[in-house]
Amino acid sequence: MPIKVLDPQIVSRIAAGEVVERPASVVKELVENALDAGSGQISVEVKGGGVSLIRVIDNGTGIPSGEVELAFDHYATSKIGSLDDLESISSLGFRGEALPSITAVAQIDVVTCAAVEQVGTYLSLKDGIAANRESQGRSQGTSITVRNLFRKVPARLKFLKSQATENSHIAQVVSLYALGFPEVRFALLIDGRVALRTPGSGQLIDSVIEVYSLEVARNMLEIGDGEWESGAVISSPHITGMVGSPSIGRSGRGYLSFFINRRWVSSRLLARAVEEAYHGLLMEGKHPVAIINISLPPSEVDVNVHPTKIEVKFRNEHMIFTAVQRAVRQALVGLMPVPRIEAVATNYASTSVPWQISWTSAKSSSLVTSLPTTPQTPSVSLPMLRILGQLLSSYIIAEGPDGLYLIDQHAAHERILFEKLKVQRSQQEIEVQGLLEPVTVEVNPKQAEVLKSHYENLVEFGFSIEPFGDRTYIVRAVPLLLHNKDWAGMLRQLLDSLFEGTNWVESVATSMACHSAVRAGQTLTDDEMRELVRQLEQTALPNTCPHGRPTMIHLSSGQLEKEFGRS
Ligand code: ADP
Ligand code: MG
Repeated sequence: MPIKVLDPQIVSRIAAGEVVERPASVVKELVENALDAGSGQISVEVKGGGVSLIRVIDNGTGIPSGEVELAFDHYATSKIGSLDDLESISSLGFRGEALPSITAVAQIDVVTCAAVEQVGTYLSLKDGIAANRESQGRSQGTSITVRNLFRKVPARLKFLKSQATENSHIAQVVSLYALGFPEVRFALLIDGRVALRTPGSGQLIDSVIEVYSLEVARNMLEIGDGEWESGAVISSPHITGMVGSPSIGRSGRGYLSFFINRRWVSSRLLARAVEEAYHGLLMEGKHPVAIINISLPPSEVDVNVHPTKIEVKFRNEHMIFTAVQRAVRQALVGLMPVPRIEAVATNYASTSVPWQISWTSAKSSSLVTSLPTTPQTPSVSLPMLRILGQLLSSYIIAEGPDGLYLIDQHAAHERILFEKLKVQRSQQEIEVQGLLEPVTVEVNPKQAEVLKSHYENLVEFGFSIEPFGDRTYIVRAVPLLLHNKDWAGMLRQLLDSLFEGTNWVESVATSMACHSAVRAGQTLTDDEMRELVRQLEQTALPNTCPHGRPTMIHLSSGQLEKEFGRS
């Protein structure tokens, strides 16, 4: 399309405004123009923090000689022509505002040569007015040099930070585009020194090596092609990219990059989707590395909300959020060992004893086995599960990346409470419920012996308990978790189970968890099931309850296929 000044009617519909805030904004606009021109090679050179000089050289389409001046007019663009085009923008620019805005605050030289032309055009502009034009030899492409940025706008100059800071903003912009366009060869020179160079191989990993490091690149995982859980394909949006394994968590949030239809965007929604996918996998205070490309029909996203086009609006935020979270989670799950009971199908096939389960607890000290298996490594996390329903009011049925999961609601809740209680105890944060009336508890002689030496330890777990005669104790407060539960029965059972050498803390936590967890036979709402599974995901050892029994059974899709004679 030739460059044309947009109709006032279209102008009134575009979110125009100041785009030149600092040198990095100029770099961003010029690099976007070079990308829109289909360049395979883009070199960016800056001096003096970008104030003295910014030069962007590309090998794109070039600007036809007769249109060079026009390119610097307000609202002159070759990228859209009608209101309809505004609905489906596929270029990075479309407002025709960047070049005129830059010309207004700097001195510009342009040398450009379009494909069909024998000789290139040189044009220099001062204070927004063309000052000099001549023919100049140049291979196809465009070089734009911006000098003395903001010299005529001292107020703006005053607000700039140190050269080092402005340079780092510039490097950030070029790095982002290098990640977003791995097929383009980027070079960034800052004060004559090469700050970044990418090979333009088309492989994202090569850009990652240059922009981040080899070490980060070694720990990157590819995000799938939008396929989710055997067969179900998310056609829109389509997510690709790479995410860092949790082992390379970063201390800052600066390692998240999002591109929508190849446009770099900043989005809290997307950042949250990624961080949620890492939930429970990253150490506290660490943030993920991720480069996420989202392609979706242009009608699903509005880029015309802000002059700098960095912020966008989605038509269906929920869908985008879920798709990103799933894609990232799936890549991470591929890395993590998934707790599974491998023996189910094989046992069924070989011994004809259905559902005989062998299970090795993660700690292997408390073992519930009916068949020997090789010990499993402790699982680091659970895959993201989709709740399908409840079975016998006791088990949660869920679908995971590889088949079916049956979760024992009581065992799972026990695991959650057990870990919470231990943390709360060590931080003296157990919530306590005072009793309206003190309650006396009678114990038998054996229980009395144990309690004599241990009742003070119960205080750490939220019991307010003191001797009240020979075999009677008085209780004034109990842990909130056990309020309205049979805590007296729990105490007796606990005292009966204790013997020399028992780990007191573990035993009390186990006992309290067991007595306060949801029971088998209790109907749960969808939300309750989801919350339970979400909390189970966050535990350190999600695959066993504190007694060492399994919290879940996994039937892989392979096992299902075998059982149904499909393989
Ligand atoms: P926009 O990018 O929104 O169209 P700009 O002011 O950035 O507006 O650029 C105006 C026009 O100048 C573009 O539409 C394009 O036709 C032309 N142009 C600018 N930079 C280049 C470049 N590097 N290569 C080819 N054409 C360019
Ligand atoms: Mg532009």
